Amino acid sequence: MQKRIEQLRSQLDAEKIDGILITSAANRLYMSGFSGSTGYVLISSKHAALITDFRYIDQAKEECPDYEVVDNKRKMNEALLQKVKEFGIHRLGFEKAHMSYAQYETLSYILQGIELIPTDGLVEELRMIKDEGEIAIIRKAVEIADQTFSHILSFIRPGVREIDIAIEMEFFMRKLGASGPSFDTIVASGVRSALPHGRASDKVIQEGELVTLDFGAVYKGYVSDLTRTVAVGEVSSKLKEIYDICLKAQLAGVEKIRSGMTGKEADAICRDIIAAEGYGEAFGHSTGHGIGLDVHEGPGLSSVSETILKPGMIVTVEPGIYLSGIGGVRIEDDILITDSGNEILSKSTKELLILA
Ligand code: ZN
Ligand code: ZN
Repeated sequence: MQKRIEQLRSQLDAEKIDGILITSAANRLYMSGFSGSTGYVLISSKHAALITDFRYIDQAKEECPDYEVVDNKRKMNEALLQKVKEFGIHRLGFEKAHMSYAQYETLSYILQGIELIPTDGLVEELRMIKDEGEIAIIRKAVEIADQTFSHILSFIRPGVREIDIAIEMEFFMRKLGASGPSFDTIVASGVRSALPHGRASDKVIQEGELVTLDFGAVYKGYVSDLTRTVAVGEVSSKLKEIYDICLKAQLAGVEKIRSGMTGKEADAICRDIIAAEGYGEAFGHSTGHGIGLDVHEGPGLSSVSETILKPGMIVTVEPGIYLSGIGGVRIEDDILITDSGNEILSKSTKELLILA
């Protein structure tokens, strides 16, 4: 934590502010280790405090050895004011993406005389590069997803509802040590597979359909995010065609994405292949995104992302092709950007599995 605090402090210098108030739950956890649901993290050039309420004092003392833990005595903003004064903060940064207008109004009223400076994505920038400990945890989260994929294959057959598949997957992930799914499990079969975010419904899976499974586990706060598309019995030549193109794009992505490249260049590797085959319009989302404490975080691998990929980033590579009324395919791996290229963390097969 001390290293993260020091990194944030150098950002404060660059932003010309002498303190920052962290209000995002994920950023608070990242900066302090505090896993409770309520609390302010306040960091100045010399001090670091976690202000929370009586429910969490013991927990916070245990989780945040690098922080002064402050009991807010049921007056959160007044406790904040006191610490801001004590730390000698005049220009206080706040996270503009993680504060409601109402909260902002209250703070400006209470912190009169203190200049409130909006900041954007400072902690998120640090979070993009994972340290060894974080990488080890994410490896485990990905392993849980891989095991869940091989477990679920024997359940997928004609006559089974999508929702029953999703429930079994979520149950199994928890048995393997996940605290829960990283988002609502997507099980999208037949024409529903053309919905990129087709949450499992009560639709019954039929012979001749593709089924897209997009899911992940939360393990020790960190997530995995995996997609595989499988066939139930023989599928049409059109569906096979889009599967092969999507796979070709995905394989090119995981082969070529490396550090030094921008998110935009990474995105183009997959997008150009799909577009060259005439399905550019059918790939309407970005190629990938970072994963970590959140399932969607930086860097983006999209046609507008100028972020440069660096060793220690963990991103998804997930091209898709969606044909409305027919069906769709998406294949998604989680990869770790390394000095020499990348390491594919997810191991599940990408061959088109035909389940009988
Ligand atoms: Zn996904
Ligand atoms: Zn994803």
